[in-house]
Amino acid sequence: AKQRGRNNYQFYNDELNQKMKRKMMLEVRLHKAIEQEEFQVYFQPQVQLENGSISGAEALLRWECDLGKISPEEFIPITEETGLIIQIGEWVLRKTCHHIKWFTQNGLSPFPVSVNLSTKQLMHPHFIDLLKRIIDEEHVDPKLLTLEITERAFLDYEDAKDVIAELRKTGVGLSLDDFGVGYSSLSMIKNIEIDELKIDKLFLNDALESKRVRALLDTIIQIGKNLDAKIVVEGIETAEQHEILAKQGVQGQGYFYSPPLPAAEFEIWCHSFTKN
Ligand code: C2E
Ligand code: CA
Ligand code: CA
Ligand code: CA
Repeated sequence: AKQRGRNNYQFYNDELNQKMKRKMMLEVRLHKAIEQEEFQVYFQPQVQLENGSISGAEALLRWECDLGKISPEEFIPITEETGLIIQIGEWVLRKTCHHIKWFTQNGLSPFPVSVNLSTKQLMHPHFIDLLKRIIDEEHVDPKLLTLEITERAFLDYEDAKDVIAELRKTGVGLSLDDFGVGYSSLSMIKNIEIDELKIDKLFLNDALESKRVRALLDTIIQIGKNLDAKIVVEGIETAEQHEILAKQGVQGQGYFYSPPLPAAEFEIWCHSFTKN
């Protein structure tokens, strides 16, 4: 038993070491990723289910380095831990605003585009100034920009509420991401005026099989409607899931419509979707 215990410990240690090594390796690469132009912003459309129009899009960061494509699920937490998210987040915001302007110049009817915002960015002392400067320099209508935050931004509501008030004044939209997953979703919408709720794919995954989950999904949608919020249901992958939601007055986002695409392909998708 003693021998076994030591082996397990050894194994655990090796695994931990591997993880640490990979993390450090990625961190070194992330420091150079902007200047080496390894990032791209992809766009995933959001569709108004009732009339089949494009109601918005979400900007999603992509990173490809010499190690291949790295998922944001892996590298975003590293950028948050190291503070690199401040610089990278600024780049994403600027790039997105740049594209927003081009989408309309290339003939698409204007729709808001969402950018994911880390708590670190939101709570950074110069964030509001930066946001105003980017909107100004990129000549973008703030109504066409939405910021997606999660409830983690409000773990300390007292700290966040002033920033949120300032944010509201800039005219950009505010969206609550991953709604219903965390424990404080409800108290958040009690405190803050939110323009949009994004319902996590978790609720959709089980809605087809479970009456209970279906009831929950309906209730969450109703809460959003009562608050006059735009509701985006994430992770729609099948025609059945689309059907469940089609008459609920919500927007859908998911592989069923389109995966996230590079800007040029996204534009082509939008043009042909609108024509059909
Ligand atoms: P999120 O904000 O919840 O983004 C939605 C994720 O669901 C995206 O993963 C998207 O590609 C994926 N998705 C879209 N449609 C479907 C579908 O039908 N089925 C399934 N299973 N998934 C779908 P992605 O792009 O890998 O991003 C993962 C997370 O990384 C995001 O989750 C967000 O938290 C973070 N992230 C991505 N880009 C940024 C960014 O620019 N800044 C920050 N701070 N975080 C980002
Ligand atoms: Ca999001
Ligand atoms: Ca989400
Ligand atoms: Ca998520």
